Amino acid sequence: MGTPACRKLGGVNIQELREQALEANLALPQHGLVVFTWGNASAYDPATDLLAIKPSGVDYKNLTLESLVVLEVSSGRIVEGSLKPSSDTPTHLVLAREFGVGGIVHTHSRYAAAWAQAGLDLPCYGTTQADYFVGTIPCTRSLNPEEIEAGYEHHTGLVIVEEFRRRQLDPADIPAVLLRNHASFVWGNSPHEAVHNAVVLEEVAQMALYSRLLNPSLSEIPRALLDKHYTRKHGPHAYYGQDKDSQQL
Ligand SMILES: [Zn+2]
Repeated sequence: MGTPACRKLGGVNIQELREQALEANLALPQHGLVVFTWGNASAYDPATDLLAIKPSGVDYKNLTLESLVVLEVSSGRIVEGSLKPSSDTPTHLVLAREFGVGGIVHTHSRYAAAWAQAGLDLPCYGTTQADYFVGTIPCTRSLNPEEIEAGYEHHTGLVIVEEFRRRQLDPADIPAVLLRNHASFVWGNSPHEAVHNAVVLEEVAQMALYSRLLNPSLSEIPRALLDKHYTRKHGPHAYYGQDKDSQQL
């Protein structure tokens, strides 16, 4: 196309970054994760330190590649795009910088938001959650008035990072968090994976709620079963799915 969007910086093409971010944002309403414009997704390339994110307040049906905003994560400077980026951008920047993840999703999907509003961690009760998360999905502390007053969205990111450090959690093993009184942030190696994990989070949040309703004194999944399910999909001993060589069909 010969547009500036085609230029390459480092390993990634800005056009590709925007395409990944657009696809992820469009997937949010398709999966029933958002109402109105209550959600946003970003694509991050650590090699170039660039992040593409949804513009603020724009309906998903009106999103175009050019409407996405591209920022440099270290400085927060807008590199390309004429619209204002999502108001949640400072949170995305902190998570991209601190966790180095390739895709980030924020939605108010209702079952995950219910746990966040209740101020509760989401315990792992079954193998669906264990396939994606090594145990409990943490709920953060509340932000204090000073953190809310100035730099609210930036502090939101810092509170998430603080919670993972305090609990010594690896964001690669627990790719989601519940923001107290708010909703969820979810991430992955790519925007596509982040959306996938956001769908899983919503499913397991619903399952956990009903499990607790059916049996208020239920126990978390046994550790051996949790480890079995997580490690058969992740890490050096993963064996779930097809080998790469046989994924042609
Ligand atoms: Zn929100």
